[in-house]
Amino acid sequence: MIRITVFNEFLHEKRVKAVQEIYPNGIHMALKEHLQDEELQVRTVTLDDPECGLTDEVLKETDVLIWWGHMAHGQVPDEVAARVQSHVLMGMGAIFLHSGHHSKPFKRLMGTPCNLTWREDGDRELVWVVNPAHPIAQGIDRFILLPHEETYGEPFSIPEPDELVFIGSFEGGEVFRAGCCYTRGNGRIFDFQPGHETFPTYHIPEVIRVIRNAIYWAKPVNRMEALVCPHVKRPLED
Ligand code: ZN
Repeated sequence: MIRITVFNEFLHEKRVKAVQEIYPNGIHMALKEHLQDEELQVRTVTLDDPECGLTDEVLKETDVLIWWGHMAHGQVPDEVAARVQSHVLMGMGAIFLHSGHHSKPFKRLMGTPCNLTWREDGDRELVWVVNPAHPIAQGIDRFILLPHEETYGEPFSIPEPDELVFIGSFEGGEVFRAGCCYTRGNGRIFDFQPGHETFPTYHIPEVIRVIRNAIYWAKPVNRMEALVCPHVKRPLED
């Protein structure tokens, strides 16, 4: 059993009718409905929960955290972002979706501005597999067709990814590193670009397949109890 926590700021779905129609119960509930099965146990939390629902207890019980945020990154308390960062360093997996690239935890983990160029024209996007042997690309053919997406373009001011799995190409000509893998401390991080709230991206089976693959890839391999710098008084051998 893999324990997943989905964080969604859950604001657009309550304020914008067009978004409500696509995700009547919120993006977090759509992800839960699509992902939960005998092996994946999904919990959801939102900005409305005390401490964003991301207490130390919840994070300790989370193997992989999925993050969706867009308009309210600033409302996530710094302490919560620091706590998420610590748990990733100790071994928790993290998947940042769409505008999660600008969330406080992602920026803390990357150490760079994570800026990009963007347009909201609803262009067609092709998410190209650039590493067919990568576990996260399994079950995907040459590309995923997204009929409409928000355009994200380079330059994307992230550190050089450890592994690049997908590149998105847009109708307007832009290209974007759409699926990037990182390791920070003991934790694995996957950044996946698709998922603007006004398009039904998370109802597309191949997009869910990628997120599912990323969960299996990011689940903890070796999880520490605390971030420590142990002092060893004696050498191993005299
Ligand atoms: Zn967006």
